[in-house]
Amino acid sequence: MRERRWDPATGAWTTFTNVPPDRAPDDLEPCPLCRLPVGAYDVLVVEDPLPPLEPSPPPAHTEAAEPYAVTAAIGASEVVAHAPEHEATFVSLGPKRLEDAIHVWADRYATLGARPEIGYVLIHAAVGDAAGATLTHPHSRIDAYPEIVPVPRRELETARGHLLATDRCVFCDIVASERGDGARVVKANDSFLAFVPFAARVPYEVHVLAQRHAPSLLELTDVERAELARLLHQVLAGYDRLFDFPLPYVLAIHQAPTDDGQWQSVSHFHVELTPPHRSADELRRPYPPELAGGVHVNPGVPERSAEQLRAAVGE
Ligand SMILES: [Zn+2]
Ligand SMILES: [Zn+2]
Ligand SMILES: [Zn+2]
Repeated sequence: MRERRWDPATGAWTTFTNVPPDRAPDDLEPCPLCRLPVGAYDVLVVEDPLPPLEPSPPPAHTEAAEPYAVTAAIGASEVVAHAPEHEATFVSLGPKRLEDAIHVWADRYATLGARPEIGYVLIHAAVGDAAGATLTHPHSRIDAYPEIVPVPRRELETARGHLLATDRCVFCDIVASERGDGARVVKANDSFLAFVPFAARVPYEVHVLAQRHAPSLLELTDVERAELARLLHQVLAGYDRLFDFPLPYVLAIHQAPTDDGQWQSVSHFHVELTPPHRSADELRRPYPPELAGGVHVNPGVPERSAEQLRAAVGE
């Protein structure tokens, strides 16, 4: 069965695939990205060989009547290989290669987003088994959905409320507040600010926000893209120094939806990093109220995490 079903109670779509998205890295030996029939490259985009979403999917398997809805799994699922070398990491590859990745992400965002059936292009990466990575090979994923996916949608709707109430972008307010306070800032340059969020969901969560109101990768200048790469690289290198092992994390890019342009004033480009570790030897376990009610409980202290990360990132 390959299809997407809509939950009328939550308004969210669930994608049903014929492959488990949580297959362990060892299930995929030998590594499919090592087997690509290509020579040297800096960054390479390939279609996901087992795509959850695709441009011409088979028709939906199930018939649905009110109040339910079902559709074919239309969209796109791409994998970006960031190096031919299986053992490379974003940190070992260096900031220049992250900059290459940012240009490729921007190109795919523009190309996929231009398709009329695509409403949101979700660019993300999982690094490390504990973060749910299905490949150890350095890679990221680009999933293009017809609808704005739930987490960005909630952010955008909240930001729209803030804009209506104050006439300001909530993310621009957050940048001003974090710069003014400084207690949670991990590292900054002229274009970007990396900080532990005031109400972080996990102990070592870091957000990297554009210092000015840029809705998406497409509005970032080449200089800004280079500065984003440099700052991201510094934070990721700091993650690896924090506990002296490669810290697993999920990286998510949140930016403007590509549905109708109605969200530009409240879309503010940012990268969210969420590591599942709560300490060097302890992973965050599923927290029942999170599954029960969507409530996050953070055993850390954001200001203390920021202090640790500042030290790990260094000058
Ligand atoms: Zn590989
Ligand atoms: Zn803004
Ligand atoms: Zn976000």
